[in-house]
Amino acid sequence: SREIRLASRPEGWPTEENFELVEVGVPAPGEGEVLVRNRFMSVDPYMRGRMNDTESYVPPFELGRPLDGGAVGEVVESRAPGLAAGDLVLHGYGWREYALVRADQARKIEEIPGVPLSAYLGVLGMPGLTAYVGLLDIAAFKEGDAVFVSGAAGAVGSLVGQIARLKGASRVVGSAGSQEKIAYLTGKLGFDAAFNYKTAPVRRQLAQVAPDGIDVYFDNVGGEHLEAALDALKTYGRVAMCGAISVYNAAGPVPGPSNLFLAVGKRLTLRGFIVGDHYDRMTDMIREVGAWLRDGEITFEETVVDGLENSPRAFIDMLAGANTGKMLVRLAR
Ligand code: NDP
Repeated sequence: SREIRLASRPEGWPTEENFELVEVGVPAPGEGEVLVRNRFMSVDPYMRGRMNDTESYVPPFELGRPLDGGAVGEVVESRAPGLAAGDLVLHGYGWREYALVRADQARKIEEIPGVPLSAYLGVLGMPGLTAYVGLLDIAAFKEGDAVFVSGAAGAVGSLVGQIARLKGASRVVGSAGSQEKIAYLTGKLGFDAAFNYKTAPVRRQLAQVAPDGIDVYFDNVGGEHLEAALDALKTYGRVAMCGAISVYNAAGPVPGPSNLFLAVGKRLTLRGFIVGDHYDRMTDMIREVGAWLRDGEITFEETVVDGLENSPRAFIDMLAGANTGKMLVRLAR
């Protein structure tokens, strides 16, 4: 079995030298544990923050220790009641081929016909819940709202746009970093309009695709995007502050929006959230999004990289936008 350890802390953009692939034995489960052969592991933007030596809402990764994160796999040996060899589980010990997991840290999952197992790491998992809670609860979306989402072709953003459309948004617009992604948004995902933030200033492009303004901004990006959205928001507009990926690799402090004062006159609500506080909404999300999936009303994309040895590269590429939809690493079939 092999695992990926944090070899050094990245400064600015991570490189493959920050990671180390290590051969370890296959561990044996203790009482109350299961041994899981991981099939898929997730690489997520929040992991970049955990590579810094700063206390945040999740503790930092430790140098010389394996990384962790969402994974799905098959129980190959169980010493825990309620779980048996052959069961499929979702757990938090990715970045390794075999994982020892305490039974109370593993959630048994069922394979849904027509839906890949990896969906539990994306549309039916943490990113799906982030989109659902962020739009409906944090931004308090209501029918008729005009919605703008950044990072729109990614795991979270692609769902935000589709949920908004299905819940009766008056207009759904998004931004992403390539022409292919823009075509995906306005094609398959049914966005009303979308723009490539790399080709012209966000403020100008947002004004073009949402000339009447927006009621909700779902922020995955921060920086220039947030500033432009503050301009475009209507009175009583709401912002779900989900992430700020444009600054995760900044080597030093970054300026805040120069126009934040607009929040006063426009009576805006800017509300941050962490999905981990909202797992009570998971069953609602799976019921509603699951039904849309079955009916073909929602689609999702995955970008899958094969092999644990390629997981650092997959993580770095995800930060740079190589993925459409959820970025995943397949560890076994
Ligand atoms: P994505 O699948 O969206 O992947 C990240 C994407 O970010 C890339 O594909 C890239 O797409 C885009 N990106 C990278 N750099 C920039 C930049 N400088 N400006 C604009 N876009 C950029 O990731 P997720 O869907 O998993 O996460 C999306 C956001 O949600 C992140 O900010 C993440 O931290 C946040 N998040 C927050 C959670 C919470 O609890 N608050 C939970 C989960 C996620 P492109 O080609 O378009 O540039």
